[in-house]
Amino acid sequence: MYTVAQLIGGVWGAGGEGGELVVHDPADGSPVTRAPVATADEVAKAVEAARGAADEWAATAPADRAAALHRAADAVEAAAADLAEATTAEMGKPLDDARGGVAAGIGTLRQYAELAPVRGGRTLHGSHPALDFMTPEPRGVVAAITPWNDPVAVSCGLLGAALVTGNVVLYKPSERTPATGWLLARALDSALPAGVLSLLTGGAEVGAALAGQKLDVVAHVGSTATGRAIAAAGARTGAKVLLENGGSDPLVVDADVDPVWAAEQAALGCFANAGQICVAVERIYVHRDVAEDFVDALVARAEALATGPGRDPDTQLGPLVDRRHRDHVHGQVTAAVTDGARVRTGGTLPDGPGAFYPATVVEGCRHEMALVREETFGPVAPVVVVDSFSEGLRCAADSPYGLAATVLTGSMSHAQRAWRELPVGTVKVNAVFGGAPGGAAQPRRGSGQGFGYGPELLDEFSTVKVVHLEAPGGGHW
Ligand code: NAD
Repeated sequence: MYTVAQLIGGVWGAGGEGGELVVHDPADGSPVTRAPVATADEVAKAVEAARGAADEWAATAPADRAAALHRAADAVEAAAADLAEATTAEMGKPLDDARGGVAAGIGTLRQYAELAPVRGGRTLHGSHPALDFMTPEPRGVVAAITPWNDPVAVSCGLLGAALVTGNVVLYKPSERTPATGWLLARALDSALPAGVLSLLTGGAEVGAALAGQKLDVVAHVGSTATGRAIAAAGARTGAKVLLENGGSDPLVVDADVDPVWAAEQAALGCFANAGQICVAVERIYVHRDVAEDFVDALVARAEALATGPGRDPDTQLGPLVDRRHRDHVHGQVTAAVTDGARVRTGGTLPDGPGAFYPATVVEGCRHEMALVREETFGPVAPVVVVDSFSEGLRCAADSPYGLAATVLTGSMSHAQRAWRELPVGTVKVNAVFGGAPGGAAQPRRGSGQGFGYGPELLDEFSTVKVVHLEAPGGGHW
């Protein structure tokens, strides 16, 4: 059983007067973590203490901050096995995936440690004796409020970028993965000056109390509803708000592709991490010519997945994060069935402990159904049959979200239409996952605002000053 401690004003074990929360292993319901719940007063004190540490960290040479982040990455690497195990115990994903998430996080920390000190400003060309330039500066005090679905990878991105650019950070991990957040914060803190990083634990009320403080930036990765609440808080406090939120990513399957290969792609996009990925495939628009073979192959793939606890090395499909989330997923499936859709495989609540949900294929869906339009965040493939690529593209574009989209097509002109016409941050052609390292997109609509990844995240956590230097009386220095 993990016993989590908070880090406030450089002191581990501070606070916790708000009681305690317990996390249960979604594979069997056994308790795995006890974590303190911060009070509003503790949150306010943590912010005040962090502000007290901000100036010194901001004045630390960028190369020294980068060296500290490299040491922090070493410490995370040393804790990698523990971090992966905690992730699996708390949110259920297969251990190999959890290891992958930790490795990705370490890679991101190192990338930011390399990139940050070589960033420059710009030199401007004004009047001859004057000196004009633009220089990035830290923003100050940053809150990083993170989700549970890939807790180490996502947190390392926000924390690494915010810290190395000279901000102090208050980190509030998800209440579903507090031990993972605590292990990560312990590793990072071991390489940083006291007070530069703080850890607050608890649920939505702690996140809301934090977002309501006088901060310079609130960075949130999580659901759209939470992102909107944080944006409203930011409008009141004046903090800059950076949001990487939910999605309902479409997959458009064209008439000219091999339906069996397309089903492999769809299965990967729908069922990896039990569908609990922000860029999971959430809705499929398949051309009528290949629909029947595609659905048959997708059902076969779904039924072949090995389901079990994430700690079992053979598991391909672990449980959902908890039963509350399972109810949400199952509720969307049953509503679609009531509305005329047909479950081809899965779609039933299994007996036994834990929060397992089977890989589910639902055919006969219509574009208006909540299962299609809303984020499901479960191992569910809703299939809508369309009569043309244009219809598929039109439906794909019609969404309250705008995170990412994939099209499978052999036609270059269809591929070109897809990337030009889809109002999303990322367009993928003929591969549901993948892409070059360093790619960073701005999500659209309800999926958020700002760059949450890549080198551009360093800019999000920086502000820019323009300087004009002239000698007195217009002479030369
Ligand atoms: P969530 O928004 O419920 O929780 C995320 C964090 O926000 C948690 O730490 C939570 O305690 C906190 N929070 C909740 N209510 C709050 C409030 N009113 N004010 C301030 N903080 C609050 O999201 P979740 O369920 O943990 O994560 C799943 C969601 O995250 C999905 O919608 C998924 O698409 C999204 N996600 C997006 C990305 C991306 O890059 N776009 C990446 C991963 C996950």
